[in-house]
Amino acid sequence: MALRTIRLQGDEILGKACREVKEITLRTQILIEDMLETMYENEGVGLAAPQVGILKRIVVIDVGDGPIVMINPRILSSDGTQTGGEACLSLPGKAGQVTRPNHVVAAAFDRNMQEFTIEGEELLARAICHELDHLEGHMYTELVEGDVYDVECEEE
Ligand code: ZN
Repeated sequence: MALRTIRLQGDEILGKACREVKEITLRTQILIEDMLETMYENEGVGLAAPQVGILKRIVVIDVGDGPIVMINPRILSSDGTQTGGEACLSLPGKAGQVTRPNHVVAAAFDRNMQEFTIEGEELLARAICHELDHLEGHMYTELVEGDVYDVECEEE
């Protein structure tokens, strides 16, 4: 396993849509392991493949309940709303207020290309929406209400 370099906002790869994964090769397995390691090292709750420069529809998430790997994920349904602070490893030290669904149901494939569904509320719902947006080339900053603020400055 190895840490991958996280692409920062402004890098054109973060604005591109990702391709579907058709089969899990050894390279894909290594990519997923590296994404998990990179996410944990940087204390993120999620990471999408384009953030490490790979235009594939793969995201990893861990909101504190263990790693979730989602390949070719899609949202099946969502409801409710939540507004809260959101941040991204591609924009370190910053955060902003974003409104997201409070509850989502998503489908994806796991590392063995077995399809599964997952239900998320609150932080997990937010993380799923945030990471799936990356696969379409979107950053949370496009949705921020008000200004993107400095996280350090917020802590008095
Ligand atoms: Zn992000």
